[in-house]
Amino acid sequence: MTKSLLILPGDGIGPEVTAEAIKVVNWLREHRGFDVEISQDLLGGASIDATGVPLTDAALDKAKAADAVLMGAVGGPKWVGQPYDKRPEAGLLRLRKDLDLFANLRPAICFPALADSSSLKREFVEGLDLLFVRELTGGVYFGTPRGIENLPNGERRGINTQVYTTSEIHRVARVAFDLAAKRRNKVTSAEKHNVMESGLLWKEEVQKLHDADYASVELEHMLADNCAMQLVKNPKQFDVILTDNLFGDILSDQAAMLTGSLGMLPSASLGAKDAATGKQASLYEPIHGSAPDIAGKGVANPCATILSLAMCLRFSFGRGEDADKLEAAVAQTLADGIRTADIWLDGCTRVGTSEMGDAILERLAA
Ligand code: NAD
Repeated sequence: MTKSLLILPGDGIGPEVTAEAIKVVNWLREHRGFDVEISQDLLGGASIDATGVPLTDAALDKAKAADAVLMGAVGGPKWVGQPYDKRPEAGLLRLRKDLDLFANLRPAICFPALADSSSLKREFVEGLDLLFVRELTGGVYFGTPRGIENLPNGERRGINTQVYTTSEIHRVARVAFDLAAKRRNKVTSAEKHNVMESGLLWKEEVQKLHDADYASVELEHMLADNCAMQLVKNPKQFDVILTDNLFGDILSDQAAMLTGSLGMLPSASLGAKDAATGKQASLYEPIHGSAPDIAGKGVANPCATILSLAMCLRFSFGRGEDADKLEAAVAQTLADGIRTADIWLDGCTRVGTSEMGDAILERLAA
């Protein structure tokens, strides 16, 4: 049956980098029998300019109906200072919330050819391949009560609430255990059970689920502050790191920097699998933003978006072999010294966005 892929290019460099991913999809259609229909819609500032809202109901319906969604990036100076519902990010948050994308997957992979771009020494990061599974729709970013209130004594008080339920913890932990079983079979669960009740619940529930259903996967519990230290001390000890929304936000950014460049890092956000159809809501996106400083110049690195497409092929379309080949083509392009400006080093060939996409395609086809 023909599958469907919705592309939401977004703002800034979004359209430039998603164009390179589309080239890859078209190549796979032509040469690898990938039966997929591509459609496109607006998101973020581009949607605000055209329709007045950052995500239209029609675009949201298309995203719900699609087998997968691939996004570029949203935002830019043009829309700064607008009311919340007229901000590009509101469209992305609505998309994540309405598709109930509770599991955010962020790999931190250090390509050998880029090991010297990391802020850590080569021996600590060369061959690094870890995966964050971050809870994305709960915790302190969504918990109530929240707000800023005025106190009778003239002070102000800001409140946010960290809150998790058993089912919220179990569903994201399942994703982590399932993925670890296909990798190096180890999950590190990071929380703060020493000072937070929600952290204690997290630890206990992850352990319970493990003992009941995933006893064959190695599980370790680590305090989130220790995890931050271990990430720079010995990052290769990790396979899958499972965390809540807040700690995951911070720790996954820290891990991202170990790999050298923002332009190289993909992500996936997954919802629950429909028991009857097996369909799973999914959104794939590079972790970088819309990079307004280089937008329109044709110099953005498309690798993060192309690697997001590889995740999409693997998780949403069951095309693991194509995903492996695409990742290998990216690695080979880097090893051959072909680089966009953000990862360029002396002795390498500096290319633009489109040439980088072509170079990857050439190696995919080889
Ligand atoms: P950014 O990630 O857009 O850019 C940070 C720096 O990295 C810039 O110097 C940029 O040129 C560079 N960079 C980023 N991606 C690159 C790529 N693919 N190739 C080469 N260089 C790249 O972060 P920012 O500047 O803080 O934010 C810019 C806008 O993007 C803001 O409006 C922000 O809200 C938005 N943003 C969106 C997302 C998203 O859509 N998921 C994520 C982060 C930021």
